[in-house]
Amino acid sequence: MKKFLLNKKLAMVVLLFVLAWLRSEALFAQQIRVVATWPALADLTKQIGKELVSVDSLATGVEDAHGVPMKPSFVPRLNRADVLVLIGLDDEMSWLPGLQEVASNPKILPGQKGYIDCSVGVPVAEAAKVLDRAEGDLHPKGNPHYLLDPVYTKIAAQNIAAGLARNFPQHQAIFDKNLKAYLTELDSWIARWDKAAAALKGVKFVEYHQEWVYFANRYGLKRIGAVELKPGIEPTPNHIVSLVQQIKQEKAQMLLYGPQNPRIPQQIGNETGIKVLRLYSSSGGRPETDTYIKWIDYTVRTLVQAVN
Ligand SMILES: [Zn+2]
Repeated sequence: MKKFLLNKKLAMVVLLFVLAWLRSEALFAQQIRVVATWPALADLTKQIGKELVSVDSLATGVEDAHGVPMKPSFVPRLNRADVLVLIGLDDEMSWLPGLQEVASNPKILPGQKGYIDCSVGVPVAEAAKVLDRAEGDLHPKGNPHYLLDPVYTKIAAQNIAAGLARNFPQHQAIFDKNLKAYLTELDSWIARWDKAAAALKGVKFVEYHQEWVYFANRYGLKRIGAVELKPGIEPTPNHIVSLVQQIKQEKAQMLLYGPQNPRIPQQIGNETGIKVLRLYSSSGGRPETDTYIKWIDYTVRTLVQAVN
């Protein structure tokens, strides 16, 4: 009798486990499958979709801003996606369209419901006068690095919420509620960053790739030059010589670079004494910057420390 009871108990435990597993499987199957191009966008989507979404980022955060190396695993991920969240303004043009072609998922093609372009409505800086993509310019539609401005990132978050609601209108109220909560949290950080970044006002800097314009405009830094000749075009030796002169003349304080080879930034640092800082252009580039807010906070703190 005792043995029978024990077996019964065991059977109950097993049954409960099976039920829990089935429930989590069902939840997983129901989740909206989101593929984001960059971790910062994946984080924003997670904040808005919460448990309704499973989010996956193609880039990890350490890649070249315009040249994410393609992995075979990207194709099935894009194929299964319900929605695709991207920076837009042709930021991903050198690697994403080819992948989309082979992923054969009509839902996430440009212009379709599942294609969520976060740049819609962002006031674009450095909007190009002439399209000179032929010369290799990677910013043909203006500067796409608006995520470095937390105020413009609110527009991106709104685009994500609207995009999710467009595809899954039955969850609109939840997306709206989560968006509102996230924007409130972001606003309190923006107020904090405004205070901290007062120390950056008027600071002259040089960037490797032209990606700091939005941050500089928000916090009053002065860009005096770039290592690249044009976005995506490596410098000539002459360009480096004149940049070094300019840094000395203008007493620029910081040289910012990201995923690029540190050789040229360090060489310029040695010749001029300028502070050389590696800061990535998305969250995820460092373990301590795994969310959008942590990334901007790290960026502001690093820059403020550098000028103090
Ligand atoms: Zn760029």
